[in-house]
Amino acid sequence: MDCPEIYENFISGLEKRNPNEPEFHQAVHEVAQDVIPFIADNPKYQDRLLLERMTEPDRIISFRVCWVDDEGNIRANRGYRVQNNNAIGPYKGGIRFHPTVNLSILKFLAFEQTFKNSLTGLHMGGAKGGSDFNPKGKSDAEVMRFCQSFMTELYRYIGPDTDIPAGDIGVGSREIGFMFGQFKRLTNSFTGTMTGKGIEFGGSLIRAEATGYGTIYMLEAALKDMNESLEGKHVLISGSGNVALYAAEKAIQHGAVVSTLSDSSGFIYDPNGFNAEKLAWLKKLKLQDRGRINQYLQEFDAEFHADQQPWKVPCDIALPCATQNEITGDDARILISNNCRFVVEGANMPSTPEAVTAFQNSHVVFVPGKAANAGGVAVSGLEMSQNASKISWDEKDLHQRLHNIMHLIHEKCARYGREGERINYVKGANIGGFIKVADAMLAFGVI
Ligand code: NDP
Repeated sequence: MDCPEIYENFISGLEKRNPNEPEFHQAVHEVAQDVIPFIADNPKYQDRLLLERMTEPDRIISFRVCWVDDEGNIRANRGYRVQNNNAIGPYKGGIRFHPTVNLSILKFLAFEQTFKNSLTGLHMGGAKGGSDFNPKGKSDAEVMRFCQSFMTELYRYIGPDTDIPAGDIGVGSREIGFMFGQFKRLTNSFTGTMTGKGIEFGGSLIRAEATGYGTIYMLEAALKDMNESLEGKHVLISGSGNVALYAAEKAIQHGAVVSTLSDSSGFIYDPNGFNAEKLAWLKKLKLQDRGRINQYLQEFDAEFHADQQPWKVPCDIALPCATQNEITGDDARILISNNCRFVVEGANMPSTPEAVTAFQNSHVVFVPGKAANAGGVAVSGLEMSQNASKISWDEKDLHQRLHNIMHLIHEKCARYGREGERINYVKGANIGGFIKVADAMLAFGVI
C-alpha cells in the first residue's frame, strides 16, 4: 500500500472506532499526515501498529461529580481522566473545567500531550482530564465543594508515579489547592501528585509564567532562524488567562508591541500597546478578581470589540492563547493579507486545519501548540523532580532550564522538519515527538 492509501485506511478506521469526536479526529489527522510517511521510510517502525496503539488511550475514566451549591441545590457534573500513553513516564497533563468539555476534546488533548511531553525530553506520558463544570460565577465555597467531590473519585487513579494532573482552562492555583488538599486528606500522604501547586506546599517557581514565557522563547528561536528578532514587532494575542498574560509580559520585555487580548466576550485593542503597568492591572483583573476583559476600558484608553476575535488587526505575529479552533480559515486569510508572518500557538490546537494549510501555503512561519506551549508541562516536570528530591530550585535556575528546553524543542523541530531554508514545525514536532514514544513502545514488545 502506498502512503495515501495507508493514511485513508488509518483515518477511516479511527473515525469508525471513535464516532462523533471531531476534535480528536482533527488532532490525530494532523499527526498522521507526517508520521505515516515517516513510518513508511523507517522499517523498524513498520507493521507494529504504533500509531493505532497511540490513538487508543490506555484507559478512560468517567465519573459522576455531585456537589451542593450555595442555595442548597444538588448539582451533578461529569468528570473524566483520559490516560493516553505512559510509555516514557507517568501520565501527565492538565485538568480543564469548562462547559464545553467532552470526551472528544479530552482525547485530543491527551493525544497531543503525549507528543508534547515527549518533545520536552523529560520522562512524562500523556493524559488530560476535566469536567463540564463551569467555575465562572461560582463562589469560592462552591468551587471548593466541586473540586473536593471531583478528587474524591479521581484520587484512586493518580499518584506521583502513576499520573500527575495539573491546571488548564478554568483550573488555576485556587482549584489546584482545593484538589491537592483533598488528595492529601484522602490518601494521608504528601506527595507530588499534582503540579501547579502553591509555593508553600511544594509548587515550583515560574510554573505560572512557564507556558507563556516558553511560547515567547519558541517564537524567538523561530525568528532567529529567519535572522529576525522580536524588537519592534507588532503582536496580537488572544485570551487573557494564564498563557496569554505571561506571553504578553515576556513579549513586551523583549521589545515587542502587544496590542490585543481577549476573552469569550470579545477583544480589547490598545493602539499604544500594553506595558508593565497595564499588564499588572490586567493580571489582577483576570487572574485574581476574575473580571471581564472590557473592564480595561474603565482604566485605560482602548477599544472593545464585542463577540469578535483580534485577527483582523494588522500585525507581524499572532499568538492564539485562548482555546481550540479559534483561528478559522477566514481568520487565517485576513492575517495573511495583513502580512502576518509568524503564528505561534500558545493554546492547544487553536488553528483549524484550513487555517494551518493557509499559513503553510503562504509561507507564514507556523509553530503548533505541541511544540510552542510545552514550557508549561516542562516546568511541571521540573516541579516533579523538585518534589521527588524534596528540594526547590531558584528562579534563575528554572528560567535557564525552561529556556534550554524550549531551544531543544526548536532544535528537534528543525532536525525533523527542515525543508530547505525553512522549517516545517508541524512535521518536525510530530516526528520529533513520535520517535521517543515509539522507541519505548518497541522496547516493551506487544502490550
Ligand atoms: P485560562 O482559563 O487561564 O484562560 C483561558 C482564556 O481563554 C480566557 O481568557 C478565556 O476567556 C478564553 N477562552 C476559553 N475558552 C474560550 C472559548 N470557548 N471562546 C473564547 N475564549 C475562550 O486558561 P489557560 O491560559 O491556562 O489556557 C489557554 C490555552 O492554553 C488552552 O488551550 C490550554 O489548553 C493551553 N495550555 C495551557 C497551559 C497552562 O500551563 N495553563 C499549558 C499548555 C497549553 P473566558 O474567561 O471568557 O472564558
